[in-house]
Amino acid sequence: MPNPRRTACALVLALVVVGSSAACAPARSPIADGTPTTTASATPSASAAPASPGGFDRAAFSIDDPASVWVVVNKLRPLNPISYAPKDLVTVPVAHDNPAVMRRDASAALVAMFAAGAAEGAGAMQVQSSYRSYPVQVQVYNGWVSSLGKTQADKQSARPGYSEHQTGLAVDISPVPLTCSLAACFGTTPQGEWLAANAWRFGYLLRYPADKTAITGYEYEPWHFRFIGVPLATELHTEGVETLEEFFGLPPAPDYLR
Ligand SMILES: [Zn+2]
Repeated sequence: MPNPRRTACALVLALVVVGSSAACAPARSPIADGTPTTTASATPSASAAPASPGGFDRAAFSIDDPASVWVVVNKLRPLNPISYAPKDLVTVPVAHDNPAVMRRDASAALVAMFAAGAAEGAGAMQVQSSYRSYPVQVQVYNGWVSSLGKTQADKQSARPGYSEHQTGLAVDISPVPLTCSLAACFGTTPQGEWLAANAWRFGYLLRYPADKTAITGYEYEPWHFRFIGVPLATELHTEGVETLEEFFGLPPAPDYLR
């Protein structure tokens, strides 16, 4: 007789696919993906993840392993190893302004999300930026440092090893035609509004909400979505929790340690 809990667990596990083959297409775009906030001081605490009312297992996957679909990356949580590169990168078969490359499951979910958005009246969408490798981020960040200095560079670019884009699970989305790109105005486009309401159905999370900059360390980025898988995205949606930091009981990450 099947054990329902075990079946549910197997279902969750089935959503994480480990693949081979690596296609690494660097994206350009020195555009700032998030402006650091200067508010709130991080008070690291060893708080355990709060319990979920419905019995959701918050320890089902690692939040530390960079290859885990639940990995939490922020200004206090760099990827480890810092030069991590995903093993199952694929070219995402969707419209794109820059190369569209993501991990396999994130790619499939994005294809489905774009199709559903169009079918449900949100209009067409394209990938503005997706996977960025460690070497590319080094290049981009160092370019800013040499022209502006470190303090200003931090406002223009994530440091290498600290960008969610390096996980292969994050994507910046723009409307087609390109009426608003990588700016707050995307949040009021039909595409931006539809994504904010529906991305969870496809396992995506609006990672940097407007009212959570002191926790995430990034200003409102209505265009930046992070694949976390359908079970976790659904749980966040159901509980009304907006950030991974809050869900997993992690300290706020408003800025780098130094
Ligand atoms: Zn982004």
